[in-house]
Amino acid sequence: MTEQITRQQAAGTAVIGAGIVGAAVARALARRGETVTILESNRPGHELASSKGDARIRVLAAYPDEEYLRLGLDSDRLWRELETETGRRMLHPTGAISYGSDAERLAGALAAHEVEHELMGREEAARRAPAVNLPEGIDLFLWQPDGAILAAEAGLEAMLGSAASHGARLIPGQTVKAVRQDGDEVTVQVAEGQSKFARAIVVAGAWTASLLGWPELSGLRPTAQTVSYFRRDGPPLPAVIDYDGAEPYSGWTPGFGLKTADHELGPAIEPGRLPGPDPERVAASTAWVAERFGMEEGPAMTETCVYTNTPDERFLIESKGSVTAVSACNGQGFQLSPAVGEMVARRMLRS
Ligand SMILES: Cc1cc2nc3c(=O)[nH]c(=O)nc-3n(C[C@H](O)[C@H](O)[C@H](O)COP(=O)(O)OP(=O)(O)OC[C@H]3O[C@@H](n4cnc5c(N)ncnc54)[C@H](O)[C@@H]3O)c2cc1C
Repeated sequence: MTEQITRQQAAGTAVIGAGIVGAAVARALARRGETVTILESNRPGHELASSKGDARIRVLAAYPDEEYLRLGLDSDRLWRELETETGRRMLHPTGAISYGSDAERLAGALAAHEVEHELMGREEAARRAPAVNLPEGIDLFLWQPDGAILAAEAGLEAMLGSAASHGARLIPGQTVKAVRQDGDEVTVQVAEGQSKFARAIVVAGAWTASLLGWPELSGLRPTAQTVSYFRRDGPPLPAVIDYDGAEPYSGWTPGFGLKTADHELGPAIEPGRLPGPDPERVAASTAWVAERFGMEEGPAMTETCVYTNTPDERFLIESKGSVTAVSACNGQGFQLSPAVGEMVARRMLRS
């Protein structure tokens, strides 16, 4: 049954959207004693949102720049803290092997921040990642032993569970129609009426720009990314990432064994209208999986998932009065969400 917003809740912060970023923002605010109401139009992790599925890659990297490596290091600590707090395992170490023109720059950033890594030639790389057929014509590889897979579904549940344990209230099935600054307060309108909050944080993924209609958000571009899942038993494969983006990237998944997706952006979409997987991308992933891992069978499942892209690949946090929009997606939004949540909470509460 859909719960309604009541006058009693009309204080503190409304967090609009219960994807991983909204959950992390809500948790960070609630941990600081803030009254938080999370409004979610559907259910957390639903099919049309970006935070669905069972796995995301967690590899410390400095793209687009070193600030993001620092976010990664903070997030790492916060994921581990969340594991301890909730007693759930979310980080599954697999190692990660990457290559391409950014490898040396990224290795330099990792070295500056004392993150364990090794730049190596083909022979050593083949020893470290024996299950991977290394691409021809490449002689330099970056190996990160602490590369891992984040159990995404468990991570979202744990983040929301922790937010709730600190007092945040989640109201699923509540679509926000409009968010408006009214004097010192913010009016949040839903189908059945409206409520006042001290502030609102819109973390609505692909829907953020259309909900607020701010010109500053007009650069946000939701795209449909094709994802393929392959059955693979045995020990988890390391994450494989080609920094030049010519090849798909892949990681282990608890459900199927192996998941691939593209760096290259898929077609632009209207939020909530997700086309089916692109057969050409599925065929390209199937051929790549055969070449890279010697796996001849086609995918056991394919789907599309939404990226919400910013023009410069940086996350976007934009405030007008007491309304803040947060778009922290692109391809690394899940792993960095805990640090983004803390950053937003510090800015909001000046703590
Ligand atoms: C194919 C693919 C692979 C990826 N791989 C990785 C990876 O390996 N590593 C990594 O770190 N990240 C990865 N990501 C990115 C990561 O999944 C996203 O950055 C992250 O899930 C974004 O979460 P979000 O909370 O911003 O958005 P969402 O999960 O989309 O959440 C937004 C929520 O807002 C709700 N909402 C929208 N409008 C309203 C409204 N009007 N009222 C109330 N609620 C509303 C929606 O229903 C939704 O639940 C990948 C993404 C894709 C698509």
